[in-house]
Formats: sequence, structure tokens, C-alpha cells
Amino acid sequence: MWHTLDNVEKFIDSLVVADEQLAEVERRKGCQCGGRLHRADYPRKARGVPGQWDRAFAQRFSFCCAERECRRRRTPPSLRFFGRRVYVAAVVVACCATTLPTTRAVAPRRTVDRWRQFFRHQFVDSRFWHHARAWLMPPVREDALPGSLVERFAGDWATRMYQTLRFLAPITTFSAGSPMEG
Ligand SMILES: [Zn+2]
Repeated sequence: MWHTLDNVEKFIDSLVVADEQLAEVERRKGCQCGGRLHRADYPRKARGVPGQWDRAFAQRFSFCCAERECRRRRTPPSLRFFGRRVYVAAVVVACCATTLPTTRAVAPRRTVDRWRQFFRHQFVDSRFWHHARAWLMPPVREDALPGSLVERFAGDWATRMYQTLRFLAPITTFSAGSPMEG
């Protein structure tokens, strides 16, 4: 899928910048105990990214409460990572959305089938989606998610993918209240 992008570097940069901004929003909120948040990123070994871009996916931004009695974790939403999934978020979405120009398989079919099942069932039943779908008029086809979401946004492939990842970002973190497994 990456070779279909005009400018991979620009696309990946935009994801990193978005994640930095989301992390800063989270840091400013502080911990629910009132404590300050310290940076405590998770090292990641992301799959589905061409080797030369590995570094842009080498850590998931995360925080830890500075109060010794609390130490609560806070992981901001992300446009790069989809919960604990080893494949990067753009790959998860692109592989599920069959209408996109994915001319080369980047993930095993069984894995992609599992992702699709997630979108058609857990995602559709999630609290996030119940709120979010109200903003989408006319409604998007739930049996064609996440492809139907990608198609809803305007612009070239990279722009639509970015917008989709931005839209889905709230479900990418445990501390935001929407667990994502796999
Ligand atoms: Zn705390």
C-alpha cells in the first residue's frame, strides 16, 4: 500500500506530528489524581511499515503519573498505532478497506479477516461508534467499515487515510476507555 502514496515521508510525518499533538493535549490534562504526567513511552516494533520508516513507529507515546502513590498510566490516542496491534493503524485500515489501492498484501489474510470482524462487530457495538456515527450524515454503511469511512472523506488517498485515522484515534487507547486487543 505504501508505494501508492505520492509522498510516504510526508504522510508518515503527518502521523507523527498528530501523535505529538495528541500527547501534548493528554499531558496538559494531567492525571485524574491531580498529579503531573511524566513521559514514559512504550517501545514498539511495528509491522507493515517499509524498513526505512521503522524509526517513526519505534515508540508509542505514553505517560505515567509522577505521584508515587498513583503512578497511573495514561496513553494518548494515536494515528500510528491501533491499540496493541502489531501492525500500524494505516495498514489495519487500508487492508480492511478493499476498495483502496492495496495491490500488495502486507498482512496475512487471516489477520485482515480478524480486523474486519472487529470493525463489523465490536467496533459497531462500541460506545464510541454510537456517539460518532451521529456526526456522519448520511450514515455510513456499517457492514463495509472501515472502508465506508475512508470513502466518506474528501481528497487524495493519503488525506482520506489521515482523516480516517484521526476519526478513529479515540478508540486506539486503553486509558481513553475503549480497550483494543490483538
Ligand atoms: Zn495520578
